[in-house]
Amino acid sequence: MTVIAENLASIESRMANAARNAGRDPKAVRLVAVSKQVPIEKIEQAAQAGQNLFGENKIQEALPKIESLDARNLHWHFIGHAQKNKAKHIVGRFDRVHSVDSLPLAETLHRLSVARGVVTNILIQVNVSGEKSKFGVAPKCLEALLAQVSQWSGVSVQGLMTIPPYDPVPQNSRRYFSVLRELRDRMVQVAIDHIGLSELSMGMSNDFEVAIAEGATWVRVGTALFGPQDSTD
Ligand SMILES: *Cc1c(COP(=O)(O)O)cnc(C)c1O
Repeated sequence: MTVIAENLASIESRMANAARNAGRDPKAVRLVAVSKQVPIEKIEQAAQAGQNLFGENKIQEALPKIESLDARNLHWHFIGHAQKNKAKHIVGRFDRVHSVDSLPLAETLHRLSVARGVVTNILIQVNVSGEKSKFGVAPKCLEALLAQVSQWSGVSVQGLMTIPPYDPVPQNSRRYFSVLRELRDRMVQVAIDHIGLSELSMGMSNDFEVAIAEGATWVRVGTALFGPQDSTD
């Protein structure tokens, strides 16, 4: 067994335990293996171990990887900040965008998707902490944004995503995850047509169990699976 296969098995069992401890169905929580900066061979090892869904945060890095792994029939989610001019590379290539953080980006994805006759599944990234350095929509702007995006047939809203401030103590992230869940519940009450809000993308290597306790349906895990990469992000 490779180290990556062992890591994957351990993450999956921790995810399932966290779900059961929260009284949730383990199948309701899925893993996005974050492969940014991870070389192709390691992605192949994860694929061989049964992981078929990967997340990338930079278009220019992701495109050649997706192409060279084409024969493996993997699924890709985009999880990073996308410049509008890169949106054309997302549509039709990524199954989901977790990180739609502005109305102009949503509109661009909508127009490109309509032109190509596809629908792009998106989550809206919310800046729950209010940190200036973080991308994402302010909670108070979310309802208006959802109302507008719900009119656009090229994008289908599936839920919300957040990245809390980095904190080495996982429990300290908990309040940000619960704020995202409460915000989602409030938006469900508003009952905007043509959108879904069942998905919550939250939790990374350090805090995915806490995120699952708070309702995460997608966790985005890189380092715990692939080990630390030489990275500046
Ligand atoms: C890098 C990254 C992750 C994974 O972080 P790890 O701590 O390595 O698990 C998750 N989400 C986003 C948006 C990222 O950029």
